[in-house]
Amino acid sequence: MENKEVLLSAEQIDQRIQEMAKQISRDYQGKRPLLVGILKGAFVFLSDLIRYLDIPVEIDFIAVSSYGADTSSSGVVRILKDLEHSIQGKEVLIVEDIVDTGLTLNYLIDNLSSRQPKSLKVITLLDKPDRRKVEMKVDYCGFKIPDRFVIGYGLDYGEDYRQLTDLCILEP
Ligand code: 5GP
Repeated sequence: MENKEVLLSAEQIDQRIQEMAKQISRDYQGKRPLLVGILKGAFVFLSDLIRYLDIPVEIDFIAVSSYGADTSSSGVVRILKDLEHSIQGKEVLIVEDIVDTGLTLNYLIDNLSSRQPKSLKVITLLDKPDRRKVEMKVDYCGFKIPDRFVIGYGLDYGEDYRQLTDLCILEP
């Protein structure tokens, strides 16, 4: 069993998500954005975030290839499950759990832009800026965190630990 150290408590995460939801609700007042959750890691964040929004939203999901049980990015991105509906003409918000090298988001931004949404913005709970390989604009960021491998709050290591309520650093 690996050691775990709490980086962000469930309370800290909840508090920050309420702030993010307020800002997003203000920015999208009178609109009905489509939130695209990136499976699997972002599903916990997405489900908490939408319950603090006070605007109507639509939800869809896209699944991309992850690291598997490895903790470093391969740089190869593959769509495992695509969106159910067209996003043409919609106000789209990508909801990601963590931006690390940026390769996944960079690919998704290119891919989704080509489907002609009315607008496309990015929400991420976590950002590890030290490891960025491609520059990109993150519109809403919960926390900037150091270059450590984190688990919990939807994030896994080899499919374990997603159910932890705190975000923890995994010490192998
Ligand atoms: P990127 O393409 O930006 O390098 O990686 C993004 C994806 O890598 C995230 O959606 C997530 O699935 C995974 N990832 C990056 N850093 C971590 C981490 O610290 N912990 C976990 N569990 N996954 C990570």
